[in-house]
Amino acid sequence: MIYPENLEILIEFLSEVPGISERAAERAVLQLSKLPQERRRIVVNALKELEELKPCKECGLPSKEELCYVCTDPERDRKTVLVVEQPRDAVSIEKLGEYKGLYHVLGGVISPLEDISPEDLNIENLFKRIRKRSIEKVIIAVNPTVEGEATAKFLTDRLTKLGVKVYRIGYGIPYGGTIDSSDELTLRKALEDMKLISGGE
Ligand SMILES: [Zn+2]
Repeated sequence: MIYPENLEILIEFLSEVPGISERAAERAVLQLSKLPQERRRIVVNALKELEELKPCKECGLPSKEELCYVCTDPERDRKTVLVVEQPRDAVSIEKLGEYKGLYHVLGGVISPLEDISPEDLNIENLFKRIRKRSIEKVIIAVNPTVEGEATAKFLTDRLTKLGVKVYRIGYGIPYGGTIDSSDELTLRKALEDMKLISGGE
């Protein structure tokens, strides 16, 4: 072992993140260790906050409080919910600064191959929210993959029965592409081109 044990653990965890190799993780940790003490303290405090993060009770976005900053923002359009697979998708959309409704994080997509069924995802909660909060418009923004399309279909069928308008984005994103890897222009276009797929008069 070259590094102190906890640093080895940190490198190991970081290298488990998709897209980060062990060498990149090692470089990142070494780089942080070279920071002046004051800045290192900021990093340590930020990491400590990770411990307090939990999914928002309403939408599933990571939050320190019971409800996240989106759910508690009085300026938001509370009749519209945009459904994403993962929090990072919501972050990508949020960065555009155009969407003003609420979010709902599924935590993945339905995948029979990987044995992921609707019950394994944050789906029932979405239907509950719609009934309880009188949501009128749901925008499905799962990734355009085989599993994503199957999930969108499942959601649309159920949402139609709940009497809400269902929209779908993703027409700007190439098939198999993902929201969080799309550039800003593509994502902006995908949002602009959202299409009503069910519930319209
Ligand atoms: Zn929330």
